[in-house]
Amino acid sequence: MTLGILGGGQLGYMLALAGYPLGLHFRFLDPSPEAPVGRIAQRVTADYGDHAALERFANGLELVTYEFENVPVQAAQFLAKRVPVYPPPAALEAAQDRLAEKTLFRNLGITTTDFLPVSKAGEFDAAIKQLGLPAVLKTCRMGYDGKGQWILRTTDDVLKAKAELPKVHLILERFVPFSRELSVLAVRSQNGETAFYPLVENHHRGGILRLSLAPAPSLDPPMQRAAEDIAGRILESLKYVGVLAIEFFENQGRLLANEMAPRVHNSGHWTIEGALTSQFENHLRAVLGLPLGSTEPASQCAMINLIGELPEPSEVLAVPDAHLHLYGKVPRPGRKLGHVTVRAASPERLALRLSELPAFFHRPDFCLDSALSQSASQRA
Ligand code: AMP
Repeated sequence: MTLGILGGGQLGYMLALAGYPLGLHFRFLDPSPEAPVGRIAQRVTADYGDHAALERFANGLELVTYEFENVPVQAAQFLAKRVPVYPPPAALEAAQDRLAEKTLFRNLGITTTDFLPVSKAGEFDAAIKQLGLPAVLKTCRMGYDGKGQWILRTTDDVLKAKAELPKVHLILERFVPFSRELSVLAVRSQNGETAFYPLVENHHRGGILRLSLAPAPSLDPPMQRAAEDIAGRILESLKYVGVLAIEFFENQGRLLANEMAPRVHNSGHWTIEGALTSQFENHLRAVLGLPLGSTEPASQCAMINLIGELPEPSEVLAVPDAHLHLYGKVPRPGRKLGHVTVRAASPERLALRLSELPAFFHRPDFCLDSALSQSASQRA
């Protein structure tokens, strides 16, 4: 049985690795000849708009899924006429546009920060007046890892942004003075079965995820129930199939939904070693209509992204229960090249184990030391 995956980055790579024990084969479509999946699976190198290539790609596939949420919706719809496509292209459509996404949240009664559309200069002034400062201006489409967004704190920032306003649809959001960022991974199978992983605490630098602590330190059951309730509403409304990630701000003990990703997610990499079933395996089980695996955590985990440069592998692997994942990509500044997951039986033991990681990991941009002292003070 061969599954097609749109996008050939590390998420696709880890989906394939999770699928091989289930006897699955994979074919990827990605415009880049550099896509890391090339070394482990069949790859079609073509543009998502190339219909002849999409036909060739779809031929003989059991179903198609994606690992990249900016796949053009038309490509997913074109394929959906030939082979089942999961998650549904409507989920892709909602997640690709921040305004559509936040409107969906609002329509489902899910709390988000206040927001307004800005598609012309006049709307910008009115939106600033209504929402006040500080605020965050974002492009509605194609923004990821902190790209295409501006934090506006002063009227000077507003004037500067106005002078440079890109001619695309934008959204202005009220700035959330959050205490931390959390995410939840939810999964819904073809037959409607659902499961939820525990909330994870995420630390970003320059808009890029650096560190996830899983389960989130000091996680209280009502917060987890609230996250599952929100995720459940989105899954049902979209008749979703597969893994869905939702990112939140925690503010004064409440969750505000910020965005969702209709795919497996970087903040779920810890599940490979840290949960009874990984997000990758559960995504495959869901799209194939197989029973879902347990989402219970097996231990406390820290997942650290390796961005732009790599540590010495032997120094990482010398730490007990540290696991190294390299994606086979050529190093470039800002590029996700791999990740490390460290496990332990308790938050205290995890902190101890993380302190044994080499100096490479203790620079401020890894967020490790600041996150650990924050969670230690929460526990105290
Ligand atoms: P996003 O692309 O929406 O995930 O935003 C990237 C990062 O910018 C988030 O992880 C937050 O750290 C920050 N951010 C985004 N929107 C807001 C907001 N409305 N208020 C405060 N911080 C934000």
